[in-house]
Amino acid sequence: MIFPTRRGQRGLSVLLNLVIAIAIGHPTTAPATAHSPDPSLGSGTFPQDGILKYDWRTGAVPPAPIRVAVNAAAADVEATRASRAALFAFDAAGTNPIGYGTGTCGVNGLACFTRNAPDGFTMWFREHGRVFDWGTLKWCQMYTSAPNGCYDAETVALDEFGHIEGLGHHVNFADERDYTDAVVQTFSRTKPREGYNMHVLGVCDVAQLQVRYDTGHASFPYSTCLDLPTKLSLSGNDTTLPYGGTETFTAFLEILTDTDYGRLSGNPVSRRTIRLQRRPPGGTTWTTIATMPYTTPTGTYASALRLYGSAEFRAVFSTPTNEGLRGDVSPTVSVTVAPCSGTHCPMPVIGR
Ligand SMILES: [Zn+2]
Repeated sequence: MIFPTRRGQRGLSVLLNLVIAIAIGHPTTAPATAHSPDPSLGSGTFPQDGILKYDWRTGAVPPAPIRVAVNAAAADVEATRASRAALFAFDAAGTNPIGYGTGTCGVNGLACFTRNAPDGFTMWFREHGRVFDWGTLKWCQMYTSAPNGCYDAETVALDEFGHIEGLGHHVNFADERDYTDAVVQTFSRTKPREGYNMHVLGVCDVAQLQVRYDTGHASFPYSTCLDLPTKLSLSGNDTTLPYGGTETFTAFLEILTDTDYGRLSGNPVSRRTIRLQRRPPGGTTWTTIATMPYTTPTGTYASALRLYGSAEFRAVFSTPTNEGLRGDVSPTVSVTVAPCSGTHCPMPVIGR
């Protein structure tokens, strides 16, 4: 559902539309904190990477510019979902109708949807030129040169596709400085306000899509709208070694297990930077001695080192700046190395 906003009457508009949102049965969810993933609509999901085919509703076919905008929004989902969320594709045999007119929309809705996961969905766009109590609806796509005050139908369709996937409206900061972190918004903006023509899913839309549908691969980045704790473990193949023996260290990085993280819970995390650090037994200063290459199975990193003295080791995953994972430090692993004996020991240097 998309509601309009009116400059200068926002307070009233918010109240009015919240009432309407409840009246038309928008699911209520626990209040989300600002800058968290879009809330989940709570009901089911569609199959991962499934393709939901839609057709124009018989007797209520949208005009060509709106059809083009809807198809573009379906392509936007595919290009920017960064997850295994379902895809949308026009198909003349599609069983999910997209119509033009009042349909299931409430009195003030510009567009609206129904979802019945995993079986199907519907979508409606209100007519260009429709007179509401707040003014006349203008779709930007219906003009050769779009005027200020028009709504971008591609952006609105992207909001609706987000809902169909199972996303609720993003909860913005009070000053809305994070508005463009989500295209799934209670209040759509009109040209030329920032975000009126978003043609990509925002990071907080993607975050909830990842939670509900998973990422495509253990190496894919997690949305920066997430803040997922990780767990890093470290083991060695021996606790005692002969002098100069080889120790193989194996680290494993995963998302913490928590039902709040949905399909991301317990995910192994591969191809990140894991550093191996060493300190003298009982020491306080850690020194990085290697970056551990990733290996199989997924989430595993390993380094082999020849050791010439007892030491303590740990693995470190620093909090990345480019994705929504929290760093972790493994527990310490102690390795005792026997003193050198025999004929090939380094000689102590005495004098010159
Ligand atoms: Zn909406």
